[in-house]
Amino acid sequence: MSVLEKIKSLSRQYSNEVVEMRRHLHANPELSYQEFNTAKYVAQQLRSFGIEPEEIATTGLVAEIEGKNPASKVVALRADMDALPILETNDVPYKSKNTGVMHACGHDVHTSSLLGTAKILNSLKGEFDGTVRLLFQPGEEKNPGGASYMIRDGALENPRPSSIIGQHVFPLLPVGKIGFREGMYMASADEVYLRVIGKGGHGASPDLAVDPIVIASHIIIGLQQIISRNANPRQPTVLTFGNIIGKGATNIIPDEVNVAGTFRAMNEEWRNSALDKIKKMAESIAEGMGGKCEVNISRGYPYLENNPELTRRIRKAAEEYVGSENVVDIDITLGAEDFAYYSQVVPAAFYRLGTRNEAKGITSYVHTPTFNIDEDALSISTGLMAWMAVKELAGASV
Ligand SMILES: [Zn+2]
Ligand SMILES: [Zn+2]
Repeated sequence: MSVLEKIKSLSRQYSNEVVEMRRHLHANPELSYQEFNTAKYVAQQLRSFGIEPEEIATTGLVAEIEGKNPASKVVALRADMDALPILETNDVPYKSKNTGVMHACGHDVHTSSLLGTAKILNSLKGEFDGTVRLLFQPGEEKNPGGASYMIRDGALENPRPSSIIGQHVFPLLPVGKIGFREGMYMASADEVYLRVIGKGGHGASPDLAVDPIVIASHIIIGLQQIISRNANPRQPTVLTFGNIIGKGATNIIPDEVNVAGTFRAMNEEWRNSALDKIKKMAESIAEGMGGKCEVNISRGYPYLENNPELTRRIRKAAEEYVGSENVVDIDITLGAEDFAYYSQVVPAAFYRLGTRNEAKGITSYVHTPTFNIDEDALSISTGLMAWMAVKELAGASV
């Protein structure tokens, strides 16, 4: 039997167990950086397979599976473990038992799938050269991103892996399909907070006041020209303000207005220069109108670049695993992912696992109270990632 066939057979053999693990995780979700029981459960599972994990980044885990010549090469595989503050409305036997917290982004799927992959690879240790490093990370959903803590605490050191691979569920893609994109894939995401300070007064006497509502309006309109006039039109970028608070009334000019928004980009250089422009323009518009603007920027995840060569190689592995008719191109998205941090350190590739099934009514998007997956995806995801890892470790020779 070839290694590919062995992986497929083990994947079938373990698939019920992986579904059970996914359901356990789904029923017991924990918020970002509070994944204590999740990490405990993952560690227990790994130990039951004969893999000894180490704690990292408080609620993260790292573990290694050594094949033959373990020092020859290291490939890292990553799963995120946190859930979201959403009240689940799915009526399923494995519905969240932690009221108000839900695995609505499929991180239960990523975690259980990587456990399945680990079990498969651990059963095939004699069949590949090198080492597979497993990263179970906390806090993908919340700044500064658990990936940044994993890197800070050495997840990509001693030795540095030659590449890292991550997957994410994708409710727009039918189950059975796997989606790839080379190069530019996901955006950086920064939070922009503006505090526009004027001088409050009677609505009928604007001459005695400095109206922060009008100043804030000019700032919001003005900042849009950074996107339309300064950004490279061939590179997607977005500035959205979704929150304005000015607590005056029909006849009261307030003292200040607070505006909050998100800035997204697909290029780190542009990101830095745009954030600078946002600050300068907001400050100078306010000043020119007799007020003041305090600009506060909370930097989020960087832009995610899928290493083209690595992406081509794992895409080929996917074609071998699920057939080329089931491998599709996916478009860029201005969503953000903290997997991007890894891509700044080592060649990284992030691909999408189809989880949609219209016939079963499974169509809800991630981050909604009705999000769910077709669990048939779990019978593909485990072996697929194992095959990608084995191929990466072997170079071109498998
Ligand atoms: Zn999410
Ligand atoms: Zn996610």
